[in-house]
Amino acid sequence: GRTLDQLNFDNSYARLPAHWFQRTAIQPLKNAHLIAFSADVASRIGMDACAVSPQALADCCNGQQPLPGTEPLAMKYTGHQFGSYNPDLGDGRGVLLGEVLNAQGERYDLHVKGAGKTAFSRFGDGRAVLRSSIREYLAGEAMAGLGIPTTRALCLVGSEDYTLRNGMEPCALLMRVTPCHVRFGHFEYFYYSGQHEDLRRLADYCLQRYFPQLKADVQPYRAMYREVLERTARLSAAWQAYGFVHGVLNTDNMSLIGETFDFGPYTFLDHYEPDHVANKNDHQARYAFSKQPSIVLWNLAALAQAMLPLVERAELEAELDRFESLYQAAYLERMKARLGLQAVEPDDQALVDRLVDIWTRQRIDHNRFLRQLSEWQQDGDDEAMLSQATQPDMLREWLAAYRTRLAAEAASAPMRCQQMRSVNPRFILRNYMAEEVIREAHQGDYRPLQALLPLLRHPSDSHPGFERFAGPPPNWAESIHLTCSS
Ligand code: AMP
Ligand code: MG
Ligand code: MG
Repeated sequence: GRTLDQLNFDNSYARLPAHWFQRTAIQPLKNAHLIAFSADVASRIGMDACAVSPQALADCCNGQQPLPGTEPLAMKYTGHQFGSYNPDLGDGRGVLLGEVLNAQGERYDLHVKGAGKTAFSRFGDGRAVLRSSIREYLAGEAMAGLGIPTTRALCLVGSEDYTLRNGMEPCALLMRVTPCHVRFGHFEYFYYSGQHEDLRRLADYCLQRYFPQLKADVQPYRAMYREVLERTARLSAAWQAYGFVHGVLNTDNMSLIGETFDFGPYTFLDHYEPDHVANKNDHQARYAFSKQPSIVLWNLAALAQAMLPLVERAELEAELDRFESLYQAAYLERMKARLGLQAVEPDDQALVDRLVDIWTRQRIDHNRFLRQLSEWQQDGDDEAMLSQATQPDMLREWLAAYRTRLAAEAASAPMRCQQMRSVNPRFILRNYMAEEVIREAHQGDYRPLQALLPLLRHPSDSHPGFERFAGPPPNWAESIHLTCSS
């Protein structure tokens, strides 16, 4: 492992045409200090977590110790926000420091969010507050813990500067680490500004960097589009299976490699509610939970539009037509895994649909339900399961069908339960948990936040002393209001 100064930077994006970005620098905050850190992320970039002091890391995020080899820049992109095209987007508060190559030759972007104003800040102050930075940090760890593709952060840094959001709030910095900061909106920028040579160059860059195996395809751009669509279909299926509501599914928040990207007013459902809207600013309910797959398809259509100079319309439409069945197959696969079903039976989709219908009608906390089902024994007592239902008859019927279906499984009941527990977490990152640790962090106590991290990283394990987080949320959880303010 390497120290910060020894990280191997090779900044391919900084070598692209100058009008694709603005060269910039981090504008330091007052008294930056490390709040949280991910050793797992550090090891991915070949960093030796033990050889780096917390303060050095905080200073590095804060731009006080510019790292050798970095070439900070703010990326230009555009995108559709709530259905309307906005040509004025770009990294308004984020800075791409550079790209680290690890010993395996894998390339990761290091991006600091909350780093100050850039050419693309518009009316913003270039900052991110502690509240939303904690939420983003926790979400990355939680998604990774669930096995859902996501960006993560190397660390979270606090400060003693304040800015106005919901009243005055402390500013923070987050160092996001991911192979990809290219959004659907990058393609839209070059398309709508008529820079079609740059569009082609961006596609070539992405092929080379993210999809090198597709370069030899007879239609490489179409193949890349197909791959993006497949990954995105699988990603949205994972969100639906775990009750994740992103909240702001604008095309500038869609990663080209199919990772969950940009955590704002996101929510893991406390009870199953298709109409749930995570973001109180989303008055049209455009990004409601059940609408996410169709919105993701809408976003993929926006990407297809932007790729019209590269791929025939009919070919892009043919790819888009595959989304529905890809999504359905990926969703069924996730749900069957959660139900411990490996065999392929004709009525599996119907079995899943009937269960989702019960969850919906009876407002069941499906994540707790599925965890409990992982403990439930095939020949055991149904009472613990039935106690979660307001109308137990429907569920009794479903459990009977499920029990019959289990007969088609080759695995023994203990094996099946073990497999189920691995995909049915004890712990889900609920809004109230984030609210609790934010409240403490605002008092200067970061320990509750730090204590949450092992639960999120290993959500299927038992964590003695933290069992209350595995139980139902407190009543006040329903009064939590999330907005775009961040
Ligand atoms: P988001 O809704 O988080 O996806 O952000 C949409 C756009 O607004 C992005 O281009 C951000 O860079 C920009 N933005 C958000 N907050 C700020 C801020 N405080 N200062 C400057 N730009 C911002
Ligand atoms: Mg964004
Ligand atoms: Mg955001």
